[in-house]
Amino acid sequence: SETVERHAFGAEVGRLLDLVVHALYSEREIFLRELVANAADAVDRRRFAAQTEAGLALPPDVKVRIRADKDARTLTVSDPGIGMTKDELAQNLGTIARSGTRAFSQSLADAKPDERPSLIGQFGVGFYSAFMVADRVEVTSRRAGSDEAWTWASEGQGEYTLAPATRDEPGTDIVLHVKADADEFLEPMRIEHIVRKWADHITVPVTLAREGEEETITRGTALWRKSKAEVTEEAYTEFYRHVSHAFDAPWATLHWRAEGSLEFSALLFVPGMKPFLAVEEERESRVRLHVRRMFITDEAGLLPSWLRFVKGVVDTEDLPLNVSREMLQATPVLARIRRAVTAKVIGELKSRAKDAETYATFWEAFGPVLKEGLYEDVEHRDDIAALLRFRSSAVEGWTSFADYVSRMKPGQEAIYVLVGDDTKALAASAQIEGFKARGIEVLLLADHVDAFWPERFDTFDGKPIRSVTQSADDLSAFEPEVAPGDEPADLSGLVPKLKEALGDAVSEVRESRRLVDSAVLLAAPAHGPDLQMQRLLRRAGR
Ligand code: ADP
Ligand code: MG
Repeated sequence: SETVERHAFGAEVGRLLDLVVHALYSEREIFLRELVANAADAVDRRRFAAQTEAGLALPPDVKVRIRADKDARTLTVSDPGIGMTKDELAQNLGTIARSGTRAFSQSLADAKPDERPSLIGQFGVGFYSAFMVADRVEVTSRRAGSDEAWTWASEGQGEYTLAPATRDEPGTDIVLHVKADADEFLEPMRIEHIVRKWADHITVPVTLAREGEEETITRGTALWRKSKAEVTEEAYTEFYRHVSHAFDAPWATLHWRAEGSLEFSALLFVPGMKPFLAVEEERESRVRLHVRRMFITDEAGLLPSWLRFVKGVVDTEDLPLNVSREMLQATPVLARIRRAVTAKVIGELKSRAKDAETYATFWEAFGPVLKEGLYEDVEHRDDIAALLRFRSSAVEGWTSFADYVSRMKPGQEAIYVLVGDDTKALAASAQIEGFKARGIEVLLLADHVDAFWPERFDTFDGKPIRSVTQSADDLSAFEPEVAPGDEPADLSGLVPKLKEALGDAVSEVRESRRLVDSAVLLAAPAHGPDLQMQRLLRRAGR
C-alpha cells in the first residue's frame, strides 16, 4: 500500500545477517533465548521508566507470551514492555548500533564451533538470530506512552519495510514465519524445552499457548535469593551462561547473603575463559543491580572496572524500588554495597591464588585486566599486588612478588623487571644478561598494560621496582666471578670513538659490566621513561 516505506539495511547489517544465518546453523535454537531475553529486557525497561514518567505503569499481570501456529507456520513472541517508536524500530533493528560486523566476523572465524553461539549475545546481534529460523520477520510495536503502532518487516535480504499498524496496548509482537526446514520450532514441546533451558530464571513469567490454554513454562526462580544448599551445580552453571552469554563453566562462583546493617544477596561468577571481545570493549562492570528481585540497572558500577570480567547479580533490600539514576549516583548505600562486594571478590581471588595450577587459568585470562587496577585504584593496590603473577628469568611458570622477594640475593635492594612485547624475546634479551650472570632474577612483563603501571606502582614490600634498562649501576655491587685470563679489556679508546660515531642519537656511551655474551646494549637513563615506554611513545608519534 501507499503507506509502506521501504528502507535498505545499513551495509553492515546485510553482511551480519549472512554470517549469523550461515555460521550458526547448528545452534539455531538460541534465537528463542535472544527473543525472550529482549522481551524481558523490554519489560524491565518499562518498569524502570515508569518510576519517573507518568502513564507508563505495567499492567498487573505481566508476562511474555509465546504461541505457535502450525497452520500459518508462525511463531509469535509478545511482550507488554517499553515498545519501540517508528524511529526506534529503524534504529534498533535496521542498523548495528553497537559493535561492528568486522570484529564479529573475525571472532566468528577464530572461534571453535561450540564457542560461536556465545558470540551472538556478546556482539548485541541477538535480534537478527531470528533469521536463522524465519524467512520473514514482522515486528509490531507500540511505545509505552504513545498511541502509534508500527510494523517493521523484513525477509532478511537487504531491506525492511515500515508500515502503520494498530496495537491495543503498548508492547511488542515478534512474528516469525518459520522456514521450511525449521518445523521443530513450531512444536510446543521443543519450545518449552528451549525456553526452560535458557530462560528459566527470568523473573517475568513466560507462557506458551497450547491447545487454547496458556501455560507458564518458566519457574522465575531468582536463583540468587535461594540458599546455597538449594542450588545445584548445574543451576549455577546455567545461570552463569545466561548472565555472561557464555558456554563454559564458571571458574569461581560466589553466592552469599549479607545481613545486618546492609542487606543484599549476591551471586557472582568469574568466567572460566576469556570472552572474545567483552573485556576489552567494556570499560565498566556490568554486574546487575536488582532491588527486591526486580532488575534496576547493569550500570551501577558495582565492581571497580579492573574486576569487570566478574558477572552476576546483586539484589538488595536497602534501596527503594523506584530508585532513579540520579539517586543511584548519590546514595551511600550503593557505595557500601560496592565496597562489600569488591572485598568479597578480592578475598575469593586471594584464597583461590593458593592453588597455583587453577589460579594460572584465571590469571592467563584476566591478569592483564586486573593489572589496570595498579594505576587506577590506589585503595586496592596492595590487594592487587598480592594477586599478580609474572614470568621470570629464574623460574618456570608463574611467580609472585612475594616469591621473588624470598629469592632475592643478599644485598639486593630492588625488584627488577624488563618490559616488552613478548616473553620469549625478553628472556633472551641482552638487557638481562648481566643480571642472570650475577644470579639476580628479573621479572619479564609482556602485557600491554605493563608499560604503564610500573610508573605508578613502584614499590612492593618496601623494595623499589626498577626496570633493568635503567639499572646498570645497581650491578656494580654484584661483580660476577671472573675467570683468570678473562679480565675485562681496556675500552678507554673505544668509548669516545663510539660516541663520536653515534653523535646525537645517544646521550652517552659507557663502559659496563652488565653484558656477558653481547657486545653492546641500548640502555635508558635512570630516571624518566624506560625503554618500552619510549618505544610506545614513539609508536604513538610523540
Ligand atoms: P541487544 O538486546 O543486545 O541490545 P538485540 O539485537 O537483541 O541486541 O536487540 C537490539 C535492540 O532492539 C535492543 O537493544 C532493543 O533496543 C530493541 N529491541 C529488541 N527487541 C525488543 C522488544 N521486544 N521490545 C523493545 N525493544 C526491543
Ligand atoms: Mg538482545
